Amino acid sequence: MTNGNIRIDFQRKRIKLPKLSWILYADDRIFTQNIKHVTVSKTKKGKYYASLTLEKQPDSSLLMHLFFSKIAAFDMSARDFVVNHLVKMENPRFYRAEEKRIVKAQRLLSRKQEGSKNYEKARRKVAKIHEKVYNRKKDWTHKLTHTLADEYHAIILEDLNIKGMQKFHSGLSKSVTLDFSWHQFVTYLTYKMKWNGHHVIKVDRFHPSSQLCSACGEKTNHLTLDMREWTCSHCETHHDRDVNASLNLLYQGLLALVSENPLMLIHDDTPTVGTTGSHAFGEEVRPISILTNLYRHTSRNKEFRLAKDESPPFIVE
Ligand SMILES: [Zn+2]
Repeated sequence: MTNGNIRIDFQRKRIKLPKLSWILYADDRIFTQNIKHVTVSKTKKGKYYASLTLEKQPDSSLLMHLFFSKIAAFDMSARDFVVNHLVKMENPRFYRAEEKRIVKAQRLLSRKQEGSKNYEKARRKVAKIHEKVYNRKKDWTHKLTHTLADEYHAIILEDLNIKGMQKFHSGLSKSVTLDFSWHQFVTYLTYKMKWNGHHVIKVDRFHPSSQLCSACGEKTNHLTLDMREWTCSHCETHHDRDVNASLNLLYQGLLALVSENPLMLIHDDTPTVGTTGSHAFGEEVRPISILTNLYRHTSRNKEFRLAKDESPPFIVE
């Protein structure tokens, strides 16, 4: 409430705006802060949006004690979005679900005379379907990032930069590409994690995570794309390709996390490692092996070596 002229009623999903009475809205978000002001805008399709500016949340300072079980590393994939061994969060195909309707509406539009009344009508129809897809995707992303930000104290993700995105998208159909908005996901996740005092770490995608042995840090040069499993020539550990890559992502993220913050990592359980595809795993990775492996990894691999001290910068309880 601001001077009593803006009010929101979450239960009945209605908002009271200055000079207007109660108006129904469609949104699932709930907040507790006071509303500072509201901006109403109208889209091309004739829909109205109310953007609320809220009073600042009480400052949440960054968490400095992190439990292993509250740390998660995720691979990103257009097909499956993010996956871990607890929940499989598949990328819902909002665009694909509407693809036929979009194609049909666009075909109708192309037959209309530009500037005519019917053209305008057809154009609005195309825009309306696109808007629907966009909104459903946005809602889904809000819900997913909210869950993740509540569940984890630190999340490690691959950093898909523009170049990475191009490589990432090559070979994927347009509908898959349109359904994947990594940028939106990361933006929402980052600010929600920040609100909670939680950490988001992005790891460079071009780090040779598949070629490094997650047990000893040795780099292999004979790994081809079709090899789903391999054995390290140095320590003879047998790896599943995806599991190994996820562990490397986790290690690199942990190192970045502790080198950026004076953190204490508390060893209670296994961090969550997630990967693409249908691999559900995590149970075979024990915390103690993560620590010893991370240590070996750090001391063996130059890229991973910490500047000042080679001992693992965390406390084990
Ligand atoms: Zn090895």
